[in-house]
This record gives sequence, C-alpha cells and structure tokens, in this order.
Amino acid sequence: MEQKPHIAIVTTPGMGLFIPIVEFGKQLVHLHGFHVTCIIPNIPGPLTDTMKSALPPSVDQVFLPPVSLPQDTGADTGTLICLSITLSLPLIHKVLKTLAESSRLVGLLGDVFSILAMDVAKELNIVPYMFFSSTMELSLYLHQPELGEMFPFPEVIQLPGCVPIPERDLIIRDRSSQLYKWFLENSKRVRLVKGIVVNAFLDLHPAALLALQQEGSRNPPIYPIGPLVQDSSPLPPVPGNEEQQDCLRWLDDQPRGSVLFVSFGSGGTLSEVQTNELALGLEMSGHKFLWVVRSPNDESASAAYLGGGQGPPKHPSQFLPQGFVERTKGRGVLVPFWAPQPQILKHGSTGGFLTHCGWNSIMESIVNGVPLIAFPLFAEQNMNALMLTEDVKIAVRPRANEDGLVGREEVAKIVKTLMEGDEGKRTRERIKELKEAAAKAVGEGGSSRKAFSQLALDMIHQSK
Ligand code: UDP
Repeated sequence: MEQKPHIAIVTTPGMGLFIPIVEFGKQLVHLHGFHVTCIIPNIPGPLTDTMKSALPPSVDQVFLPPVSLPQDTGADTGTLICLSITLSLPLIHKVLKTLAESSRLVGLLGDVFSILAMDVAKELNIVPYMFFSSTMELSLYLHQPELGEMFPFPEVIQLPGCVPIPERDLIIRDRSSQLYKWFLENSKRVRLVKGIVVNAFLDLHPAALLALQQEGSRNPPIYPIGPLVQDSSPLPPVPGNEEQQDCLRWLDDQPRGSVLFVSFGSGGTLSEVQTNELALGLEMSGHKFLWVVRSPNDESASAAYLGGGQGPPKHPSQFLPQGFVERTKGRGVLVPFWAPQPQILKHGSTGGFLTHCGWNSIMESIVNGVPLIAFPLFAEQNMNALMLTEDVKIAVRPRANEDGLVGREEVAKIVKTLMEGDEGKRTRERIKELKEAAAKAVGEGGSSRKAFSQLALDMIHQSK
C-alpha cells in the first residue's frame, strides 16, 4: 500500500505563529489524509509547555533541544528567534534527512522566521512551502527585495491592492537594525517556494489577494485557506491563574454584548505609564471589561514572548493605579498573563475587543463577529491596524500623542465609540458580514475549502 503523503513543518517558537500552523497541520491530517510532523526549535520561555500541550496526537512532534543564545546582547525578540532557528539548522537537517529516508516526504512548510530552514530543504531536495498570516504581510515580503533597494526610502509605500502604508507603520522601521537584515534576507527566499498558504479568505481583503495573483508567474501559487482558528486556548502552566476559568463564569452573568475584552496577544506588554493610562481610561469609560494584564515593561513591547523581563508574574494589584482594583470591582475583571481567549470571544456577553492586532486575534474576532479597537504595539501590528481601520473597516483606533502614548481620556472615548456610538454600530455590522463570509469560505464548497483541496493535490503532484 502506498504510504501517506508526509509534510514536515518547521514552526517558530512563539504562540502567534505556532497556533495557526498547528491548526493547518491538523486539517491536513483530518481532511486530506496526510501525515504531518512538526519540528519545533526550542527557546525556553513561559509558553514552551503550553506549546507542547497544544499539539494534537494526530500531528507528530519533534521538539529540538534548546540552543544556547548569546546572553545580554540586547537583541530584540525577532532577532533571537532567527538566531535560534539558525543555530538549530544542523538538527533540522538531521531530522528532515531521517524523515525523507523513512517516509513519503512531499514538502517542508515554514513561516516568516522558520523560512531559514528552506535552505536545508533545498540541500535535501524537499519541496518548500510557506505559511503567511495576512495577505498584506505576504505582499510586503514579496515586494521587499525591490523596496529594500530604494534610496531614499519612500515615506509612503503602495503595495498593490492595499491602502498606502506610511513608513512608520511598516514591520521594521529601523533599516540599520539587525532584525531588518534578517527580514530582508528572509524576504528574498519567499519567491523561491513552490506554494504559499495564507491564513486569510477571499472576501477579507480581495483587492490585495487578486493583485498578487495577477502578478502571475512572478509569485508562487497562493492558497488563501483561512480563517484557521483554534477552538479552545491551551492553558499555560502559570501559577495563580485560577482567574482563567472564573472569568468565563463571570461572563455568564453579564448582559449580552456588554463586555470589552482587552488583550495583547501571547507576548505583548505595555509600559508602566501606558498600563496606568489604559486602566484609568477603562475606568472612566464606565463600561464593563475583562483585561488580560501583564506586568508592565518599559524596555520592550514584546517582553513576554520569551519571558524576558517578566520575572515571576506579579499580581495586577501590585502595579495598577492605587484603588483601581477596588473601584472597578464587579465591573472589571483582571486575568493575569493568559486567558482562554477563543472562549471569551465566542461568549455572547463579549461586545468588543481592544487588541494589539495580532493576526490570530483578528481572525478569532471575525469568526465570532466581535468588533475591534486597534491598539497595535510592534512588528506587523501597525500594518494590520491600518488595514482593519482604513480598508476592511472592522476596527476603530485611538489617537496616540506625539510620544506614542494613548492617554486615559482617549481610551475612554474610543471605548465609548465602539460600545455605544454610531461608528461602533457600523463596525459591528461590518464584522458580522465578514463573520458570515468567513463561515462560507471554510464551509463545504467555500473558497478556502477549495483552495485547501487544491493545495493538497498540488503538494502531491509537485513531489513527483
Ligand atoms: N491567546 C490566548 N490567551 C491569551 C493570549 C493569547 O489564548 O491570554 C492566544 C490567542 O487566542 C491567539 C494567540 O494566542 O490565538 C495570539 O496570537 P496573535 O496572532 O493574536 O498575537 P501574537 O501572540 O502573535 O502577538
């Protein structure tokens, strides 16, 4: 009997990319009869065990031993991830060689960081594929090699089918940084793959997708197969997080659509002053809220990704404004570090989501029809926020002052805009339309379902 086609996936050790890629692997197994192995480079962090627990038994897993990263170099999270993957390449080579010799390995899939493993795929003659979150991000990567040559760099970038992007909203603003060098190098690899999977659906951002498809053979085939969302959040082993389940019980007792959910993804952190302004703004808004709170960090907005600067989690009462916890009791619920986000967004009492604009958070909101307040922190989040507010129109966005701080009055104003104003109503209606379009796309005969089937066929065909 012929062996099942086998896809190896090298994942990035960060929940934001890990969650949808695992979901992709699950669907490849369940809907298309593939065998899938996830190879996971290891950076020890607070969510490592959560990642292990998120892997379903239907997907094989190879956790690589931790690599030793240079200490105290001041390198940012993205650079550390690229380094950890580079240092893991000899091990990835070994694992892939064994898989290629012992099974019908038809391809290797990587993401924007683990694309570094595509060089190994080439050496071993394995067909390379890539996974992207949004179409806009994909478009930026595909056009980055030409953009990188431009001097002086344009103040506004026009990607085909997208709203103009001011330079300040690009993924990486500092072109002299180490991370920019990685980004440029990685972007040059994208056109070399044989297929690109995008966690988006046709009706979400059609102009951007069609523009890329119309660039014809310059680009590899693009498969929009989303939204890929998890149905329940893996639980991290964080002590003192009993609040996780309590918050769902609290939601059960709240009026329909009355609660604003506030969360900054798997690793986002706010500065101390921004944490204070957000707290006081939520209080001033008079609305109910459920906030996943992290210890503030003045050094980095992505401090919690790799556990850097977090130390043992502090209880919110240790860093929130004095008296805030008592004054908002009953109206506001605080969950330290991590909450069951998919279940919260699915809950009927949740009426809005103040988000850092990570792609999974956006997809989970669309699937549940929950309108957004865009509060981007770093990386592609500014670009996502732009797309959500100016193009797709499912989010409202507060104005930051010249120091980038969103003050308490602005927080209160934007919460009221979303939860009670006409603009909020329009945003809610628009996201409900997208919710229906997303359900159609992944349903029987839908565009994402068809693209997934085509991808599975092409993967088998390409390997022959
Ligand atoms: N998440 C969660 N609970 C939390 C924070 C995050 O379950 O308290 C999940 C969330 O549902 C999403 C993922 O972690 O699936 C975060 O991905 P996203 O792309 O939104 O942001 P990133 O972590 O990449 O910044």
